[in-house]
Amino acid sequence: MAESVDKIKTRVIGIDIRVDRTTYAVVDIRGEIVAQDYFLTTDFIDLNDFISALSEKVIALAEENGGYETIRSIGVSAPSASSVTGCIENAANLPWKGVVPLAAMLRDRIGLAVAVANDAHITALSEKSYGSAHGMKDFVVVSISHGGLGSCFFSNGQPHLGYNGFAGELGHTCVEVNGRECGCGNRGCLEAYCSEKGLIKTAEEMIASSKEPTLLSEMQELNVKTIADCCYKGDKVAIEVFRHTGEILGLGMANYASVLNPEAIILTGDMTQAGKWLLKPMRASFEEHVFHNIKNKTRILVSILKEGERDVLGASALAWDVKEYSLFK
Ligand SMILES: [Zn+2]
Repeated sequence: MAESVDKIKTRVIGIDIRVDRTTYAVVDIRGEIVAQDYFLTTDFIDLNDFISALSEKVIALAEENGGYETIRSIGVSAPSASSVTGCIENAANLPWKGVVPLAAMLRDRIGLAVAVANDAHITALSEKSYGSAHGMKDFVVVSISHGGLGSCFFSNGQPHLGYNGFAGELGHTCVEVNGRECGCGNRGCLEAYCSEKGLIKTAEEMIASSKEPTLLSEMQELNVKTIADCCYKGDKVAIEVFRHTGEILGLGMANYASVLNPEAIILTGDMTQAGKWLLKPMRASFEEHVFHNIKNKTRILVSILKEGERDVLGASALAWDVKEYSLFK
């Protein structure tokens, strides 16, 4: 009596909303990306226009790849999103201000169950499902991008989200009293030194104060890659920029690890392109500052997932966690 047996839906949608672009994908039950596309987030200053465009594009991609009826649910990654409320709340760099009821708006347009989580949580979920944290129960994922430094940690196999869903703001822990101004309004935050933006500021300060010539002052543009290129050419100031940044990052991560005692810390994002120039001094500083009983016991890893795929995969993993629901069944 095959007709009387319910069939499960074997696909979900993963959506990764970033400040510059929004990527969406149909992902199957084995974590394979069936189809993926993107558009520029910055083309939609109006929230309703953005939600309408995203909904239409997601439905079209599903229809072209197996059909809408094969999709079980949707998972979304967004900055400053709370998985507790399903809303983006006061995102600093997105064009839509205030509280955006993202899950509810997408559910109403697309007609499927929608789960939302912030980008750091999604990155960690992706590492656990498909990357370096596979099989781990207690781990930390630190994502360092141009503007920010986010993190998420899993404890006993579960993400720790916090009472309001905003746990893990490692980037806004203080590493220097009365230090640099941070975008959050405080001073001396880890992210003010260890994001790519912070690194560039350190490079500019060191160029200005350096008594010896440096290749850095000849660079058209300063970024992780161009500063690392100068290190490979033996530029002492460039090496010092990363050494100083790595020292602060290692201190911040040691404080974090001393609280959490994770099996591993996994680094993702733009800053990992710096390679040994950042990672060696960071590791040394980490071991110097971490609580003595966990010295040399924390693995520090760099993500093996592709930057363009990691967060849609993580969002798709989240989609499986929500109860199946359809408005149009
Ligand atoms: Zn801050």
